[in-house]
Amino acid sequence: MPEILNKLDYWSDRITDRLMRRLPGPRIHIPISRPMVSFTFDDVPDTALTNGAHILESHGVRGTFYIAGSLEGQVEPKRTLISRDGCRALAQQGHEIGCHTFSHTKVSHMGRQRLSADLQQNKDYLDAIDPRDDRRNFAYPYNAGSLWGRGIFQKNFQTCRSGGERINRGSVNPVFLSGVEIRQPESHALGLTGWIDTLISEPGWLIFFTHDIAAQPTDFGCTPETFERLVAYTLERGCMVLPVKDALDQFSAGRPLS
Ligand SMILES: [Zn+2]
Repeated sequence: MPEILNKLDYWSDRITDRLMRRLPGPRIHIPISRPMVSFTFDDVPDTALTNGAHILESHGVRGTFYIAGSLEGQVEPKRTLISRDGCRALAQQGHEIGCHTFSHTKVSHMGRQRLSADLQQNKDYLDAIDPRDDRRNFAYPYNAGSLWGRGIFQKNFQTCRSGGERINRGSVNPVFLSGVEIRQPESHALGLTGWIDTLISEPGWLIFFTHDIAAQPTDFGCTPETFERLVAYTLERGCMVLPVKDALDQFSAGRPLS
């Protein structure tokens, strides 16, 4: 993409990000009385299953894995994407399977028709692996939302997660939840325990997101040792750790989601 288009795309994402958090619309209420943490994975690389899910399970907790069907089994220079069987194993091991579009295209780059068809294609893909009656949760590819697509996302999903490096507290837009990234450099990933300290002093819902959990991670993942340390620290400090759908159940107990 020429540089000028890249710049326009960047600013368009920034403006969309701000408006999505502030525009009037549906809201869910995140209690500020207890610290809640969700560990989530995007794309999803196979090491998120072999290492990431394994570490969560060894601590008795589960995560949310946002799958893009078209990436199935794809081999990239530094990672291999999860297979259909791997995805099935995640569901069988009690993890939540969420949607990340089928094509892994930025949603603002798709027209209404193409977006709806893409989401249906991924729904069919995921339902064949992990049948579900209720609406799944969703994570935006590249953390970038779409203003005009808000209605489509609201209709199809319980929540949609972006990035933003923020903790969700109080009244938040369910189709634009904030997330905190676990990524390289490793010194940065190790320092993410600081977010847990912040969450303890000011409770809310902290949604971590990452990709591969590998000895030699991509720029968008971390090592098993660092992930293990973060999960252990989160639990030691007394945070509740739940997949996104179960955290929502806790928040909405006795109160319907809007
Ligand atoms: Zn992605």
